[in-house]
Amino acid sequence: MVLHARLRLMTAVLVALSVQIGAEVSYASQTSDSMQFTLGRLFRASAPPPCKVGDAPTKMLGAGGKYAVLDTNLRLPNGWQPPNLIKVPGGHQLQRDAASAWRRMALAAADAGVKLHIASGYRSATHQQTLFNRNVKQHGRAHALKYLARPGHSEHQLGLTVDIGLSQGALLRAEPRAGTASTKSQRAANWMRDHAASFGWVRSYPKGMQSKTCYGDEPWHWRYVGVEEARAFMASNLTLREYLWLKR
Ligand SMILES: [Zn+2]
Repeated sequence: MVLHARLRLMTAVLVALSVQIGAEVSYASQTSDSMQFTLGRLFRASAPPPCKVGDAPTKMLGAGGKYAVLDTNLRLPNGWQPPNLIKVPGGHQLQRDAASAWRRMALAAADAGVKLHIASGYRSATHQQTLFNRNVKQHGRAHALKYLARPGHSEHQLGLTVDIGLSQGALLRAEPRAGTASTKSQRAANWMRDHAASFGWVRSYPKGMQSKTCYGDEPWHWRYVGVEEARAFMASNLTLREYLWLKR
């Protein structure tokens, strides 16, 4: 009888425990479902609008427009000029912080046998207009809109952005990929993928993301956001436009 009673007690305890565990599991899954729903709603609310061609003023976030979102619709205020522009190798200009971060990055790359040059840095609105007009003439307006920003819409006007060149005027056109790189461009692409963020540089227009970034893929186009932001950005898995939008 005593054994019987013990068995019944153990069974009751086990049943009670399993009910409690079941309830907790079900509560946890409800909580995570509703959290996911809330996070999803928050993210949708804070995702940038679909890309369109327009001329809306952007918010100038951060010192010197460091976190300003520029796309085919959002533009810089008329007449806006970046502060603290200084000369960088190749006769280009960048804001001071971006310039010193570039120098540090280029030196580290050179140590690893990768030569990085600046093919384009700061561009004025007038310069941007000339480039845009030339591209329209050569390739048509649709192509120009995909690869070249109209004046006011270019990250180059911030003085925080570079187009990376390799030797003899060639742009860094390779996409990074797994395994050993076989060409100069591939080596540079892989090096940038692995190290650029630790110098504060991030890629604005990755491959296959045009619906989110508003521009075609540009392996050569990199923007300086600072080391802390660059690391947070890399961990976010967002495009730069989406990431900066969250700062508004
Ligand atoms: Zn560029």
